[in-house]
Amino acid sequence: MKAEIIAAGSELVSGQKLDTNSRWISRKLQSLGIDVRFHTAIGDDLAENVAAFRIAADRADLVIVGGGLGPTQDDLTREALARAANVSLAEIPEALREIQALFASRKREMSERNRVQALLPTGAESLTNRVGTAPGIWFRVDNTTFVCLPGVPYELMIMFDEQVVPRLRANGFVAGVIVHHVINLFGKGESDIEAKALDLTARGRVPEVGITASDATISFRVSSAGANEAEARELLEPTLQEIRRRFGPLIVGEGDENVVDGLIAQLRRTGSTLATAESCTGGLIARRITAIPDVSPFFLGGVVCYSNDAKVNLLGVPRDLIDRFGAVSPEVAEALANGARQRFRSDIALGVTGVAGPSGGTDEKPVGLVYLGLSSSEGSWTRKLELGPEQPRDIIQSRSCKHAMNWARLYLRDR
Ligand code: AMP
Ligand code: MG
Repeated sequence: MKAEIIAAGSELVSGQKLDTNSRWISRKLQSLGIDVRFHTAIGDDLAENVAAFRIAADRADLVIVGGGLGPTQDDLTREALARAANVSLAEIPEALREIQALFASRKREMSERNRVQALLPTGAESLTNRVGTAPGIWFRVDNTTFVCLPGVPYELMIMFDEQVVPRLRANGFVAGVIVHHVINLFGKGESDIEAKALDLTARGRVPEVGITASDATISFRVSSAGANEAEARELLEPTLQEIRRRFGPLIVGEGDENVVDGLIAQLRRTGSTLATAESCTGGLIARRITAIPDVSPFFLGGVVCYSNDAKVNLLGVPRDLIDRFGAVSPEVAEALANGARQRFRSDIALGVTGVAGPSGGTDEKPVGLVYLGLSSSEGSWTRKLELGPEQPRDIIQSRSCKHAMNWARLYLRDR
């Protein structure tokens, strides 16, 4: 069983718009155990669309086409598919009724042009689109099944889930399911982590374990196939447990969870409150924490103390500390954390000060040198990070932020 995805639209091949639909469909098909072998993108040219459909019909059993179902001249999918199959177009009354009903529900006049959206290749089945005007198409040509969906990502996703997946199952495309589970780690490099997991990431192992890195978060992705979801999930479990056992404190979360989620989980578990004083990260820690809903019981607030005056006046950092050690120093990082904890009356607080670059570095204090401070009722501590000097500013800021949050997470984890 081989599948091909065709993305139709001149805006995609010209580079004006990114083809996000194909990636999404590929992941969906993969989770259904359907092997995607080709991604094709084509511009709005009738002959080229016909040719692309013929090529796909020759090499794939299932072809999912996204785009080109609109009412305008450059929407060619219906016509091209009919030509590729050597059939004519015919109006499907049910499809026309659905288009009319959608316009009526939106209190809009249906223009005559929208009628073409009910024209499908003879023999094709139309797929209901309850969120837009373009019906989809399910059409079998010789041994290949063509599925055409509108290009608007939101419509395409809903129709894929509601209309296509049940038909794929009913028509024997889905032999089993493939499930994935991701465990995310932070605090060690990809190679360090892989060195402790070579038995797990070995090629051909079942279930398969992949390792990827993104912004210093290292992820194990465990994949398994099964006759159904429950069976496939059960096959994952022993491997997931082994990863959890082996990497315990490095694990920040699972699925989409990252360092910030791990920190919030620990704040919640311990019932602790946090405050921040950020210089070189410019409020990024506060931003990432407040991007998560319902954190107000745990996050009291933060200060972006970019200037020395702000550090002194807003957080009570002694001016002579800055004069003696410099704003980027362990002493100031610690004083920032203590100042934030006192002023916000939080249980713990983080301070961050560093050289984010690209300018401002010296031999003694190069770009990427960052000091973190952590303050609690038990005391205050500092940590030094060396993240540069070649890294761009946004990476240095993001890493500083993650290391700071991770430190607070680990501190609370032991409480
Ligand atoms: P169409 O169905 O071709 O009229 O496309 C409708 C809208 O969806 C347009 O804004 C397209 O740019 C967008 N679109 C079409 N195909 C894709 C795709 N593969 N990925 C993301 N957006 C798309
Ligand atoms: Mg288009």
